[in-house]
Amino acid sequence: MKKIALEEHFSTPELAGYAYGPGSSMEREGFARFERRLFEIGEERLAAMDQAGIELAVLSVTTPGVQREPDVALAIARARRANDHLASRIHKYPQRFAGFAHLPLQDPLAAADELTRCVRELGFKGAMVNGHTNGHYLDERRFDPFWERVEALGVPVYLHPCDPCDTPRMYDGHRELLGATWSWTVETATHALRLVFAGTFARFPRVTLILGHMGETLPYLLWRLDSRSRMLAAGEPGTPLPSEIIRRNIVVTTTGVCSHASLLCALSALGEERVLFSVDYPYEDCRVAAEFAESAPISTAQLRKLCYENAERLLALGARDSRAAA
Ligand code: MN
Repeated sequence: MKKIALEEHFSTPELAGYAYGPGSSMEREGFARFERRLFEIGEERLAAMDQAGIELAVLSVTTPGVQREPDVALAIARARRANDHLASRIHKYPQRFAGFAHLPLQDPLAAADELTRCVRELGFKGAMVNGHTNGHYLDERRFDPFWERVEALGVPVYLHPCDPCDTPRMYDGHRELLGATWSWTVETATHALRLVFAGTFARFPRVTLILGHMGETLPYLLWRLDSRSRMLAAGEPGTPLPSEIIRRNIVVTTTGVCSHASLLCALSALGEERVLFSVDYPYEDCRVAAEFAESAPISTAQLRKLCYENAERLLALGARDSRAAA
C-alpha cells in the first residue's frame, strides 16, 4: 500500500555540528553512522522509500538544528539557508519529497515570518520544531506570535524530541537512558503536556500538533491525566479534560515504535483519524516500518487511513489524489 511519511530527516554540513557534542546525547561517532544518509536527498533515499512503498516523504532538519544556536542572527540565517536547500531538493523531486520548515524560534516573530515564507513561497507543509529552544518551551507567552501565524496559515507543527536543557540527577550514571531510549520521551511528552495544561490550545484552538513515537506515551495515559486533572481543577467547571484537548489538537505518528500493541492503543485512545504512518529515516529502517504497518491487525480501511489518507488530509495534499493509489 502506498504511504506518506512525516518524520524523515536531513542535515547539511552547516547544521550537523548541532546534533552531537556537549549537551547532546549523541557522540560525534554515533552521528557519523547517519551523516551520509542525512546529507543525501536523492536516489539512495528514494530507493529506501521505494522498498517500503513510501510515495512521499516530508523532510525536516534532524534534531536540534539551529534551536541550540545562542546567536539569534546566525540561527535566523542558517534556518533560512536550510529551508532554501531543502526547497531546491524538493524542486528536483516534487512528487516524492515535501518539506517541514526549520525555524529560528529564538525570535518567535522571525520564526513566524520564516514559516510564512516557507509555506507561501516554498510550498512547505508545516514546521518541525525540535523541542525547546535554548530552554524555552512553546507554551510560554513569548511564542504567541508564532502560534497566531501557525493558526492563520492552517499548517501543522510537528514537535520532535531533543535533549533536555539540563539533565536531571536521576539520569546520573545511566547514560543508556538518555536520548531516544527514554529521556527524549519524557522531554517531549512533558513539552506537549505543558501546551495542554497551559491553555495554548484553548487560545489557538485550530492548531494541530504532531507527536512522533506513537504519541510519546500520551495515548497510554489519557485516563490518568483526566483523573488527576479533575482532582486538581475541582471548582473550575467547564475546563476541558486533557484527553479532550489531546484528541482535538494532537495527532501522532508511528516513528520508531513498530509495535502492534502500541499501535492498537493509539488507535483506541485517539481514533483512527489521528494516527499516521512514518519512519524516522535514516535512524529507522523503512522496510521494518512498512512491514509493521502492513501486518497490523486492522482493517484495510484503517490501514489506508494510517498509511496515507490521514496525512493527505492533514497536509492538504488534495491535488495529489489524482495519482494512483496502490
Ligand atoms: Mn526523528
